[in-house]
Amino acid sequence: MDPYELLGVSRDADDATIKKAYRKLAREYHPDVNPDPAAQERFKEVSHAYEILSDPQKRAAYDRGGDPFGGGFGAGQGFSFTDIMDAFFGGAAQGGTAAGRGPRPRVRRGQDALIRLDIELAEAAFGVTRELKVDTAVTCETCHGEGTASGSHPITCETCRGAGEVAHVQRSFLGEIRTLRPCAACRGFGTIIADPCRDCGGDGRVRSRRTLTVKIPAGVDTGTRVQLAEQGEVGPGGGPAGDLYVEINVARHETFTRHGNDLHCTVTIPMTAAALGTTITLPTLEADLPDVAPQDATFELEVRPGTQSGTEQTLRGRGVPGLRGGRGDLIVTIVVETPTKLDPAQEELLRQLATLRGEEQPEGQLRAAVKGVFGRFRDAFNGR
Ligand SMILES: [Zn+2]
Ligand SMILES: [Zn+2]
Repeated sequence: MDPYELLGVSRDADDATIKKAYRKLAREYHPDVNPDPAAQERFKEVSHAYEILSDPQKRAAYDRGGDPFGGGFGAGQGFSFTDIMDAFFGGAAQGGTAAGRGPRPRVRRGQDALIRLDIELAEAAFGVTRELKVDTAVTCETCHGEGTASGSHPITCETCRGAGEVAHVQRSFLGEIRTLRPCAACRGFGTIIADPCRDCGGDGRVRSRRTLTVKIPAGVDTGTRVQLAEQGEVGPGGGPAGDLYVEINVARHETFTRHGNDLHCTVTIPMTAAALGTTITLPTLEADLPDVAPQDATFELEVRPGTQSGTEQTLRGRGVPGLRGGRGDLIVTIVVETPTKLDPAQEELLRQLATLRGEEQPEGQLRAAVKGVFGRFRDAFNGR
């Protein structure tokens, strides 16, 4: 279902409006507030809608008509229950109705990361190994992810006695309402880092730029995502890293265009070559590779005598290798060029040729051709 419709916001709604709409619906349908099974279903739907619209990448993917979870991101991954609660309650300690969840763990799995990589068509077709600069959170080496200054450890929170939440009693016309709120003193963790690590401020991770060697397999195309397990963001408290996705963008090639695994190109030849026939040597896509054997760098295109403009020739197996094996074709379209500037000698030769072929009266020929077509129509009409 349309996430905009589910949240009741317009397509150009800004982040604040989307968040507000989600909070309002979540307060209405959250399982802790509304025990009705239909409400639970509704809560899942609006959460899913919010999951899409709150993430600029997923929202853009949805707006483009794509599947925001396609290409390797499983539904719900990278958007944990904690994230939903964070969106709902604005981090923690702002109040709410979540009950009995216990302290939230300091150590959590990190988020998936996505980076884009521009490559050439030949690299996409035949594969390439690239060095990538990756900017992600990594485990803080000073505290090994614990977030504490050397020698110290997190201590149990005195306010909530380690529960991570405190009871809150409210009197209303319905009677006494008892709710549990995340503990403000420890932000719901149940423990307090009294002496945080100076390098990471207690988060257990720091941002770092590193170089990764990535092997891009043969046959990738624009939009293909290459998954690198556990190379994404390290989680809070030194939790396991998410995955890193490298999204491929293939540059335009000046000669070849790609349709699936087939390559297309256009070759323009002079009128005389089309009439007489010829063999043309053309560069292959492999010619773009740094260490290509000479025999792989070119191919011979046979132009038969009498070739018409627009003729297509298919060279089997000269296209792009498939990600799952096989290889596409190379389709060459031949365009015949009619000369536009003739010197007197060339013009004389062409006139002689026209005379020899009985084509020297273009208008008469045209009339004959039209008559021929008309004749065939008439014959068909009369049943001959
Ligand atoms: Zn640290
Ligand atoms: Zn506490």
